[in-house]
Amino acid sequence: MKRVKYTIANWKMNGGKDSIKLVKLLARHIKKTGHIKSKVIICPPYTLLSDFIRLEKKMIYGAQDCHYQDKGAYTGSISAQMIKSIGCKYVIIGHSERREYQKESSNELRLKIQAAVNNNMRVIYCIGEKLSEIKNRMQVLKKQISTLNNNLDINNIIIAYEPIWAIGSGKTPKIIEINSIHKNIRTLLSKKFGVRKSNKISILYGGSVNSLNASDILKLEHVDGALVGGASLNYRDFSKIIDSYL
Ligand code: PEP
Repeated sequence: MKRVKYTIANWKMNGGKDSIKLVKLLARHIKKTGHIKSKVIICPPYTLLSDFIRLEKKMIYGAQDCHYQDKGAYTGSISAQMIKSIGCKYVIIGHSERREYQKESSNELRLKIQAAVNNNMRVIYCIGEKLSEIKNRMQVLKKQISTLNNNLDINNIIIAYEPIWAIGSGKTPKIIEINSIHKNIRTLLSKKFGVRKSNKISILYGGSVNSLNASDILKLEHVDGALVGGASLNYRDFSKIIDSYL
């Protein structure tokens, strides 16, 4: 089954007023190489999003989080509706750093996902086990997948499998293991949504993807792209990762 491939840059809390240069370089690189193998999406901090959207229209953008209400007394928060209104179509939800530092619960994540989908945005939903949970990995992932409502429009859902212990650590599961975990994730999705629907969901790998390991990971049968943190902040590294599909 042919699925959409994605290369998604999660800039986290990085980037400043000069970062548009990186976005422009990447847009030029994609145009020059005629790259069509994956959709490249940049997810910068909120402060840069509207500038980027205005200054480089050839790139696709995502936010790193959203609130579940459209508006209201939620100081410091930004809603899916607000993000959509500036022309941003993608949003990362459930990243392990937010689950940990912002104590985001499954219930809150469910509401955020629903809010994003209601606003016609595509959700990059992150799941992944801690180091101490490796033995129970599939149970952990099953529980995280159960956060998705059964009646959700899955056309708007992308899964990013990110083992928490692999994020920013330089470690990854063995390449062959990544493939089998992704296969098992699809089985979980099939049980929940049915085979036909779940076959449409792209499942990305994230966690220490870099210019050296990208081609091995991205050629795996069950991997539909990558969510990239650290290496997405560097033009050479990220452009090499994008080119790894070729
Ligand atoms: C991430 O945090 O989503 C991530 C994949 O980070 P890194 O690539 O730096 O491990």
